[in-house]
Amino acid sequence: MDADSIGRFDVEVDVLVIGYGCAGAAAALEARACGAEVLLLEQAGGGGGSSALSGGEIYLGGGTPIQQACGFTDTPEEMEAYLLAALGPQADAEKIREYCRGSLDHYGWLTGHGVPFKPGFWDSPTWVPPTDDGLMWLGENAWPFTDIAKPAPRGHRVTSEGFGGKVLMNALSAAVEAAGIQVRTNTQALQLIMDGPRAAGVLARHFQDRIAVRARRGVVLATGGFADNPEMVAMHAPLLTGLGVTSDGGDDGRGIRMAQAAGAAVQRMSTAQVGIALVPGLAVRGLLVNDVGQRFINEDQYPGLLGQAALFRHDLAVWVVLDEQAFEEVPEAERWGVQPGFVAETIGGLEQEIGMPEGALSSTVHEYNRYAALGEDPYFHKAKQWLRPLEPPFAAIDVRRGFAPPEMGSAGRGGAEVFTLGGLRTGLDGEVIDLSGDPVPGLFAAGRAASGLHGHGYLSGTSLGDGTFFGRRAGAAAAAG
Ligand SMILES: Cc1cc2nc3c(=O)[nH]c(=O)nc-3n(C[C@H](O)[C@H](O)[C@H](O)COP(=O)(O)OP(=O)(O)OC[C@H]3O[C@@H](n4cnc5c(N)ncnc54)[C@H](O)[C@@H]3O)c2cc1C
Repeated sequence: MDADSIGRFDVEVDVLVIGYGCAGAAAALEARACGAEVLLLEQAGGGGGSSALSGGEIYLGGGTPIQQACGFTDTPEEMEAYLLAALGPQADAEKIREYCRGSLDHYGWLTGHGVPFKPGFWDSPTWVPPTDDGLMWLGENAWPFTDIAKPAPRGHRVTSEGFGGKVLMNALSAAVEAAGIQVRTNTQALQLIMDGPRAAGVLARHFQDRIAVRARRGVVLATGGFADNPEMVAMHAPLLTGLGVTSDGGDDGRGIRMAQAAGAAVQRMSTAQVGIALVPGLAVRGLLVNDVGQRFINEDQYPGLLGQAALFRHDLAVWVVLDEQAFEEVPEAERWGVQPGFVAETIGGLEQEIGMPEGALSSTVHEYNRYAALGEDPYFHKAKQWLRPLEPPFAAIDVRRGFAPPEMGSAGRGGAEVFTLGGLRTGLDGEVIDLSGDPVPGLFAAGRAASGLHGHGYLSGTSLGDGTFFGRRAGAAAAAG
């Protein structure tokens, strides 16, 4: 929308931030710290977004006080090497370098704004620890990454009973209030207002009223991703069609489309975090196989990478195969109600029940057991601590049946819940890049509205992590005008 067509602006501020999740809160706080007058617009009745529903895991490293207290050493260089590999192919090398070099400072910024982390260590693959431990592995100790970077656990989990996102957003919201940042809720940004090539504000809706907001120095889009918009999913990420969505329900992609209308470029639109309906503790103690009974990945990798491999390479037609000991070893609180759907005394009986070709699963389990007895996994190099020959009776879990714990949002066609990682193309300071490769003056983006650290891969903690990290940079850059 052309600024000339706006008779009079209803509100004027220095920096306008759209969306009050983790990225928007971080942008607003940093813009305010730089001396700007800041307004946060939020379409919902309150702040929080998907960030408040999240597990509260934040990917941090380089030797944080929590890592040190748990006895781990780490460097930004090892962190960078791991992220480049695990978030690839085509991870954003420049952003990853900045992120890793700034990680200790970012830890300090978060804790300085009241975000709590507890020095306790959870030492088993999981989505979210059932304890309030503050540190966990996110696949750093799994092959092939052990050949690429010295492993250190970097999953920093905000201290909380259950999921920690609410604690994170409570802390950031208290800081927003203390900083005197204006917040308008129930106010949805509809269109960018452009002053020539420059983003100059937005037209927004507050119930029946239209409000024109002018941003003297910059507009930051922190509106989340597009997984809740079926048309955009069909257009950009067809393999995600019909799956459940991991979000607050508001990932409608509007912020991305508003910027596209102003000439912004998008990138990596087809990739996503894939929250496969699998209990990592069960999978790592057993096998993950496809529909012809073959393993395709080491089961101790970060479960999101298992999910991506299962969805993008096997259309989720995958089973967890395990025995009684594996099932019993995982505490009930960590099983999330999942029960094996198939049980048999022999592997041959199990493959028959599942409907696999005769011998398909038997040969896999035979090979796995033969090497596991020697403490080896020459196929996928699963860590020794998880290797043990499986014994009868055997069981299998079909991940397409899904599970839906309360915090995971709506259950879709089962098997996986996703959120999108692609979005607006941005530079290191969140500046939105247009189709010619130039910044759109006055326009910034962060969080899932933007394409961040990620190429194809995803690790837990890198969404809240890059959302807050690059949100801060976008807020500072917008304040600089
Ligand atoms: C159950 C669950 C668990 C998760 N666990 C983790 C985890 O442990 N670690 C991790 O890193 N990530 C996790 N995630 C993902 C992570 O929470 C999100 O990717 C991240 O919070 C996105 O942050 P954001 O600031 O970009 O968006 P959001 O937090 O979603 O905030 C965007 C805000 O913008 C508002 N908005 C949108 N459009 C408009 C508009 N036009 N006008 C005004 N307001 C608008 C929305 O209402 C929303 O409040 C999890 C997500 C869920 C749902």
